[in-house]
Amino acid sequence: LIQGEKPPTKEEMGNAYWTAIHTLAANLQVEATGAEEHACNLIHAIAKLYPCLECREHFAQFVADNPPNCSSRNELLIWTCRAHNEVNKRNRKPLFACDVSSLDGRWGSCGCEG
Ligand code: FAD
Repeated sequence: LIQGEKPPTKEEMGNAYWTAIHTLAANLQVEATGAEEHACNLIHAIAKLYPCLECREHFAQFVADNPPNCSSRNELLIWTCRAHNEVNKRNRKPLFACDVSSLDGRWGSCGCEG
């Protein structure tokens, strides 16, 4: 049995969510398939449900001011980067280069296709 593990900290949870958000966008096909819409729905749901209230309010405001483009994998991937950079700025962390090549390098294929 798995026992004694603690709930994630705000930082661990944030890291896990960003990993999910970026990998989800990065693993969409470049040619639109309709799946982009589902990825976008997830972003809107996170803006309503994210467990850290302060984070959720900031994120919801960002989504309202900068609605994600739900029809293009690359636009959505770049959008996730800009959203993350907003938090990085607030937390005085380094910014990430929001171009497709840098994002693919960090978040591209997970090797799970086969
Ligand atoms: P993270 O910021 O979690 O980043 C993980 C990895 O992503 C990095 O190692 C880097 O390789 C990569 N990365 C970094 N920036 C980018 C980018 N722009 N695009 C693509 N990849 C990138 N914390 C707060 O204190 N206040 C908040 O208001 C807040 N709001 C949040 C809102 C959301 C929706 C989420 C998911 C998280 C939020 N967090 C917030 C948590 C915060 O963003 C970090 O996740 C947390 O501080 C842990 O940071 P980390 O150093 O592990 O790296």
